[in-house]
Amino acid sequence: MAVQEHPGGLMITEARKLYTGEPVWTAYRQPRVPAEELGQPLSTDIVIIGAGISGAMIAEALSGHGLDVAIVDRRKPLTGSTAASTALIQYEIDIPLTQLTEMIGIERAAAAWRRSRVAVESIAAKIRTNKIDCAFERKDSLYLAGDLLDRNGLEAEASAREAIGLATALVDGKTLRQDYGMKCDAALLNQNNLTCNPVQLTAGFLKAAIERGAKLYSPVTVESLTETANRIEFTTSDGVRISARHAIYASGYEMPEGVHPKKHDIASTWALATAPVKGFDIPLFWQSSDPYVYGRASEDGRLIFGGEDEDFADEGKRDAVMEEKQKALERKLSKLFPDERFETTHFWGASFGGSETGLPSIGKVPGKKNVYCAMAYGGNGITFSRIAADLIAASILGRPDPEAALFEFE
Ligand SMILES: Cc1cc2nc3c(=O)[nH]c(=O)nc-3n(C[C@H](O)[C@H](O)[C@H](O)COP(=O)(O)OP(=O)(O)OC[C@H]3O[C@@H](n4cnc5c(N)ncnc54)[C@H](O)[C@@H]3O)c2cc1C
Repeated sequence: MAVQEHPGGLMITEARKLYTGEPVWTAYRQPRVPAEELGQPLSTDIVIIGAGISGAMIAEALSGHGLDVAIVDRRKPLTGSTAASTALIQYEIDIPLTQLTEMIGIERAAAAWRRSRVAVESIAAKIRTNKIDCAFERKDSLYLAGDLLDRNGLEAEASAREAIGLATALVDGKTLRQDYGMKCDAALLNQNNLTCNPVQLTAGFLKAAIERGAKLYSPVTVESLTETANRIEFTTSDGVRISARHAIYASGYEMPEGVHPKKHDIASTWALATAPVKGFDIPLFWQSSDPYVYGRASEDGRLIFGGEDEDFADEGKRDAVMEEKQKALERKLSKLFPDERFETTHFWGASFGGSETGLPSIGKVPGKKNVYCAMAYGGNGITFSRIAADLIAASILGRPDPEAALFEFE
């Protein structure tokens, strides 16, 4: 990974239109999080850039340890990518264990899978202990056969998972149709994943941090970072100076300039939600295909369904195909659930990030002493935000995590 020098200072973040359309979460209670204006210079221990789910979890993990924590965001709270998330919170990484093993070896692949498992439990525990009201539900999950892994491929995947202590069950097509109304040859069934409302989840973490003394400033756009011997100095776009001992970029898909790990790319994705159907419930699911589709039920019986990803990041191009993508998703939905008739009520397109291995990049920015970055991307973005919060907090609090090397910048 190369860190490039920039004449105006390092690590200015990209500006993106993160999503277009109406994410389904606009249909529910909109939580309010108190944010302050930043009119005066600020000196703090920790500044977190970004108040999405990554910044919120990091702030919650670091506040209450005798450190001054400030979170800044250029947007209104809760309006970044997290507001567009479909929030399937699962430990199964986008890249199957069998394929990840080929890429990075069994030891690292197994450690990444197990760490994701722990992270999902940790999210559930944090929701409970912080009493976060976010439509949280425990869910089974189905990994559907597709053009990447067929039934035989799923069997091999099941054996590989069992060998590292993550047993899963193979379900046949007849059972899928009978139990879930889904038309597919086979799937792997898992337990103990989660769903929730990601906007309410993020608000809960931010509020927990604020209750322990953290401050949230918005709108504040951080620009031109310089690192001196012991401090990091920023200027905001309004010319206000921020000085901190540690800086953490949790800026989502608006990556800081100069910190572009080659294996991370921004793409485009689309999702829809249907009108609620009383009593409708299914496990969360995603398909072993490229591009893949995925979905879940909401607490009130909507089906939230996404996919149709494209490699391009250009928002103009993304928005130009909204209608076409909605139709394509609706066609795929009818094919997967042939006995159901759904009515689309919400549809949105968004920027989305991923990496070759499906793993995030989390840790100190190479060449910097006290600047961290959490590129917690992909279909497991929220699970990875938890891992980012735990790893970065551990490093700053002086108790490094033995698995930090798994996710650090190369
Ligand atoms: C359509 C869609 C579906 C998804 N589905 C799932 C899913 O089912 N499960 C899952 O786990 N993940 C999913 N993800 C991924 C997950 O939602 C993301 O990984 C996660 O929301 C990213 O959170 P974040 O806090 O890193 O980024 P964000 O929520 O975007 O927050 C970053 C914040 O940083 C701020 N910022 C950037 N630059 C600056 C600056 N210079 N100064 C001040 N502020 C700045 C931005 O304004 C923004 O608010 C999905 C994503 C999308 C788009």
